[in-house]
Amino acid sequence: MPDQPWAGCARGARSAPLGASDPYHLHAVDPITFSAFGTGTAAICSSVWLHRRLRVARRGRTDQDRHLAIAQRSIDELHARQQRILTGLDHLPLGLVVTDVGAVEAARNQAAATLLGDHPSQAVAMTALDEVLTEARRGFASTQTVELYGPPRRVIVISGARLVDGAVAVIEDVTERRRIDAIRRDFVSNISHELRTPVGALLLLSETLSDSADDEDPAVVRQLASRVELEANRLTAMVDDLLSLARIEANDPSGYVTLLVSDLVHEAVERSESSSERHGVPIEVMTIALGLTVIGERAQLMSAIHNLLENAIKYSDKGLPIVVSAGANEGAHTVWIAVSDRGIGIPGRDRERIFERFYRVDRARARDTGGTGLGLAIVRHIAVNHGGDVTVQSLEGEGSTFTLRLPQGAAPNGAPHG
Ligand code: ADP
Repeated sequence: MPDQPWAGCARGARSAPLGASDPYHLHAVDPITFSAFGTGTAAICSSVWLHRRLRVARRGRTDQDRHLAIAQRSIDELHARQQRILTGLDHLPLGLVVTDVGAVEAARNQAAATLLGDHPSQAVAMTALDEVLTEARRGFASTQTVELYGPPRRVIVISGARLVDGAVAVIEDVTERRRIDAIRRDFVSNISHELRTPVGALLLLSETLSDSADDEDPAVVRQLASRVELEANRLTAMVDDLLSLARIEANDPSGYVTLLVSDLVHEAVERSESSSERHGVPIEVMTIALGLTVIGERAQLMSAIHNLLENAIKYSDKGLPIVVSAGANEGAHTVWIAVSDRGIGIPGRDRERIFERFYRVDRARARDTGGTGLGLAIVRHIAVNHGGDVTVQSLEGEGSTFTLRLPQGAAPNGAPHG
């Protein structure tokens, strides 16, 4: 009853009867007065009722507005949170595609767009994605590996997972990992092969030595002992080169300093002096400008020049000198260091491959010279670490020139010297 306009008044009339507050009783009031009074009371009651309704309505509207505002704020916050998550997902290196229960795509991050879109074999990738998402919605986690033919050539792995109200597919670009795995596998099999050769030779020599021990022919024993020494040296050289490679791979440019090229060259030549004398191959150093500098790690750069010198000595005949020179390509801000020999030279077909690990032009000759097949791979790695490169020019039977190019360093007094 409180909604009736008279309800409050009737209650009011009952709680405060006219007769109680007034000396006259209700029946003492004449009908006209009563009627007028009644009309007035009804009007007042209506007005009170209206005011009350208005107040309730107003309160209601205010509550409604407040609830609306709260709801709007929550929606804004949710939207902002969603945007934050989506922007965060765009920074993921993994691709993500989310669909709802009805297979409608709800989100796709930047990596997914790059990995799936605008590619010659896009259709293959999309089919795999659809299949994985369908399986995921049915509750089965599946994975597909897709080879995308380039350019650029890519291998991606798509895995699906079910969500409460849909499915998600995670896309990973495994191209680089696959490449590194393949290199590692090749490397391990090459190392095993390379180590097996001297170890096998040592085993054979030791057997022969023990068989010939009864012969007591000192000349034979000496010859066998020197072969043992050669193979042991080969093993040591191989282990040394592998350790150098590992150290060079863990390159840390933060320790690079400005180095004088003439210092590097003269130190490397000094290190090669004994083998130069042993082989009768002299080394000539052309005048190197004193201000010529590079930025790098002294040990690595020394080892690169030293390896080029050792090769030049190994693959040259007695008496034919090696020439070392250096200069700067001012415009390109690079320094070049060249090691030229007049040795056996390198056939054209092998020139590109000699920088690969364990590649040798002439295995027999490399064995005689105690080569490991790792020297030039080390030189190239060092050049790349320093933002440079190494190239070769060669003519079979005439000689070779190996050129190491490195970014030019600061002026000699502009940076600390290593
Ligand atoms: P190795 O230890 O066998 O010398 P490297 O990686 O240093 O291995 O060189 C790879 C191959 O390149 C050598 O086996 C050799 O055939 C060839 N080579 C390198 N330097 C020279 C050079 N100065 N003259 C001729 N051939 C060279």
